Amino acid sequence: MAFDVDLVILGGGCAGLSLAWRLSGLGAECPSTLIAEQRATYVNDRTWCFWSNNDTKVEPLVLQQWQWLQLEAHGRSIRFDCGKVPYQMLASSDFYEHACQAIKGSSSVSLSLDTAVIAEPRKVSAGWAIETSQGTITARMVVDTRPDQAPKKGKAALWQSFYGHEVVCDIEVFDPACAVLMDFSVSTSRQIPFTYVLPISRHRAMIEATVFGPDPLCPMDLVAQLEAAKLKYVGDASFCVVRSESGILPMGLKKQPARPDSGYVKVGVMAGAARASSGFAFQRIQQWAENCSLAIAAGRGVVGQAKDPWVLRQMDHLFLKVIGTEAQIAPDLFLSIFDKADSASVIRFLSGRGTLKDYLQIIAALPAKHFVRQLLVPRFPQFSSNPAK
Ligand SMILES: Cc1cc2nc3c(=O)[nH]c(=O)nc-3n(C[C@H](O)[C@H](O)[C@H](O)COP(=O)(O)OP(=O)(O)OC[C@H]3O[C@@H](n4cnc5c(N)ncnc54)[C@H](O)[C@@H]3O)c2cc1C
Repeated sequence: MAFDVDLVILGGGCAGLSLAWRLSGLGAECPSTLIAEQRATYVNDRTWCFWSNNDTKVEPLVLQQWQWLQLEAHGRSIRFDCGKVPYQMLASSDFYEHACQAIKGSSSVSLSLDTAVIAEPRKVSAGWAIETSQGTITARMVVDTRPDQAPKKGKAALWQSFYGHEVVCDIEVFDPACAVLMDFSVSTSRQIPFTYVLPISRHRAMIEATVFGPDPLCPMDLVAQLEAAKLKYVGDASFCVVRSESGILPMGLKKQPARPDSGYVKVGVMAGAARASSGFAFQRIQQWAENCSLAIAAGRGVVGQAKDPWVLRQMDHLFLKVIGTEAQIAPDLFLSIFDKADSASVIRFLSGRGTLKDYLQIIAALPAKHFVRQLLVPRFPQFSSNPAK
């Protein structure tokens, strides 16, 4: 059977564009590729933060970086020096623009905006047929980045829900050298609320209300927390809100049956891209996109998110079990990690690039009694960072 294209990418967000951007640089080895994206246009809908790993694609787009990170809980405050690996921020609009420019320059890759996938892909001979709002597309391989699972209690061990406002103040109120990673409010038995502040200049910052908890929360649920956070960080200054963003990220997705078909992978934030214990996904998506484009170029077909090492999965599972059942101690656990473990180890661990030595450093920084107790408690949702594996 002749297909319309070799590869169709369903969804042109972070994962879809990251792969397409890399494929467009393959030249003659690039398969004919179509990205079906439902949006009509891209806007600056989110900012991505991560610790630098010298990625040559995204590093030149970094808008702001911080040498220092602050964590606060119960009146105690620590400042964490990121050493050689500053915490960096990228505006999604810059990422979308550069990825789209690279795709435009390729004769093999095209982006079809305003194209919604309207039915589940069907297997046809040695490929796939995809019904879209613009007609049917047939392809030999499919990379499906659609976040098809609506955030729903029970689908993840915990959810990270957040709602933020980017504010511009009339006077200087922020310290652009230091971002506030976690400023904890009082946890309840089920929820861990905290504020996240990303200063872009002395006048401008993104202030976000965040909650780790068993229920996914919408922006309306977070309004009061966000207003309190703005009051704390902006004080008496007059300010205006220039942008807002919100999200609900899974922390430990429940295991799902693996899809047996070759030539079809599900990827993205609802398919293992979000790190179970932190929700960080951007760098993991970049790493997956690199691996997938290399596999395609080598004729090995499409590949999904790589499975995390066994030790990391066990650590994430135990950590989520502890904070999921004893939410009140979570602020102290986070402060302990940042305070006691070596900064390079913490950053490698949170970025998913940790070594066994780093894991041991993190374990040594945590009070053992809570973890030993949880090891003896069997009932907690089984999850996987790579739910389709
Ligand atoms: C506001 C926000 C801030 C975040 N900040 C960070 C951060 O600082 N650091 C970090 O590591 N991670 C962060 N994340 C998490 C993660 O990096 C992002 O969610 C990232 O965008 C996930 O990429 P994705 O491709 O899986 O999903 P998306 O980027 O959401 O892409 C999915 C795409 O699929 C399209 N789509 C959906 N359904 C259809 C359909 N039926 N047909 C066609 N197209 C469809 C959507 O329009 C979208 O473009 C953040 C997430 C959000 C929401």
